[in-house]
Amino acid sequence: MSYQIKERRTCKVSGKEFPIIENELNFYKKMDLPIPDICPDERQRRRLAMRNEFNLYKRKSDLTGDEILSVHSPDKKYPVYHSSEWFSDKWDAMDYGRNFDFDRPFFDQFKELWDEVPKLGLLVLGDNENSDYSHDAYRLKNCYLTFDGEQGYDCMYGETFVLVKNCVDFFQLINSENCYECLRSEECYNLYFSAFCNNCSDSYFLRDCHGCRDCFGCCNLRQKQYYILNEPYSKEEYFEKLKSFQLNSHTALEKLKESAEQFFIKYPRKYMHGLMNDNVIGDFLYNCKDCYECYDCAQLRDCGYCTNCVLTGNDSYDIDIWGDRMSFCYNSAGCGAGAENIIGSLYCGFDSHDIYHSAFCWKGCQSLLGCSALMHKKYCILNKQYSKEEYEKLFAKIKEHMKHTGEWGQFFPPELSNFAYNETVANDFMPLKKEEAIQLGYTWKEKDPHDYKKQSYSIPDRIEDVKDDISDAILVCDKCEKNYRIEPSELKFYRKHKFPIPRLCFHCRHQERKKLKNNRKLSSRECMKCSTEVLTTYKKSQPELVYCESCYLKEVR
Ligand SMILES: [Zn+2]
Ligand SMILES: [Zn+2]
Repeated sequence: MSYQIKERRTCKVSGKEFPIIENELNFYKKMDLPIPDICPDERQRRRLAMRNEFNLYKRKSDLTGDEILSVHSPDKKYPVYHSSEWFSDKWDAMDYGRNFDFDRPFFDQFKELWDEVPKLGLLVLGDNENSDYSHDAYRLKNCYLTFDGEQGYDCMYGETFVLVKNCVDFFQLINSENCYECLRSEECYNLYFSAFCNNCSDSYFLRDCHGCRDCFGCCNLRQKQYYILNEPYSKEEYFEKLKSFQLNSHTALEKLKESAEQFFIKYPRKYMHGLMNDNVIGDFLYNCKDCYECYDCAQLRDCGYCTNCVLTGNDSYDIDIWGDRMSFCYNSAGCGAGAENIIGSLYCGFDSHDIYHSAFCWKGCQSLLGCSALMHKKYCILNKQYSKEEYEKLFAKIKEHMKHTGEWGQFFPPELSNFAYNETVANDFMPLKKEEAIQLGYTWKEKDPHDYKKQSYSIPDRIEDVKDDISDAILVCDKCEKNYRIEPSELKFYRKHKFPIPRLCFHCRHQERKKLKNNRKLSSRECMKCSTEVLTTYKKSQPELVYCESCYLKEVR
């Protein structure tokens, strides 16, 4: 892959200049796509702003009137169905079909369809057991408030995961068990308050450690046991010292968190996180080759500007979440499971191909343009059926029309988002103030006073002093003042592991974890040891010691 900058353009949304690199340019040519006039950041903002991942509401199904949980708040004007209803034959998305009008822009016409077609209450593709409070997550059992993942068992409060068991409060956890407050870790067991670890167990407050067990407050260690603050202890001393940390007390735990961060900051960081990569630029990349500005991705080849695409994918640009046998996809969110040639679409996949500017079209769909909520369909435009010949003729004509209006290859504009900006993952990764969001065409959700009742309960400092009645209490988040609850199973977990009751709501806990990761923004700087130039997400203003790979590897022990 060549990352040579071939030209620079000015973004029509942000007014900022952005580069077009050689491979990207070749991709656009191959895919017959116009060179974008919106910068990668603003393209990503549009995609993320179509996804509400964490805010669940109680509302009625517009098909049955039953009470359901949904990412769509009850005030929305469009119909919302429970996933079991949405995927049933009780309704037909083709009833919403319409003709294309060449006197009008495409997105105006798609919006009219989009506003009428029923929406999925929660994105659930079957197979979940006793896990009603989960969205965009599959093959779950006994999970509560888990999002964007698969194969979770007895887990609570987690985002982005594969194969996790008995984990609470986690973000980006793979194949791990009994973990609490962990971030971007893999193959870990009984690991707590830790980040960026592999194969670690029975440990607390680890950062960038691999293969460690029985360690406390350590950084950059490999294959160590009985270490505290990077110093070796005997087994007996280790467990004696461990007792003194008082992890059962909220006050003590907060102090530990603070001093752990102060300790970690003294140790160098590698300029990027990742393993087994070849010629990549970005952060948190694993088994990737020839990838440009990708973040939180695994097993990608020849891709650019992708985020959260795991499993496998190749020759794709501007894709957020999913992956899994994705190829030749562009500017789409939620794209995978054998998705091929998907352009400007939202949640299209499962062996679907040649899908353009469509949303929620699944299961072997092919040759669709401007469609929504279709399954096993082909040759449709705006949910209307055509013959193969009619489709091809009309498709070519509309594509020309859309190239002319500047719409071809664009993702859905802000006014098509079903969600307020501050309900979406866009605000998570690219936070805006209300005025800024509105300026860009997004909407904003005001606080609901019902969620801000006064605290009726004083939380004891030590978990041992907490009574069962805490599960009935309304608690108030120390940070955002929103109400939150402690589920009985959650209380059981804290008691079992002897951790105090959290004082922040789920959202704020999630935000605190996320803070440990840098923003997805690269800048060029020098390795602070050898002065080699590196592209890194560590801004110059950050206090971390940033090293190139070879200097970093000399530091790990
Ligand atoms: Zn909060
Ligand atoms: Zn160096």
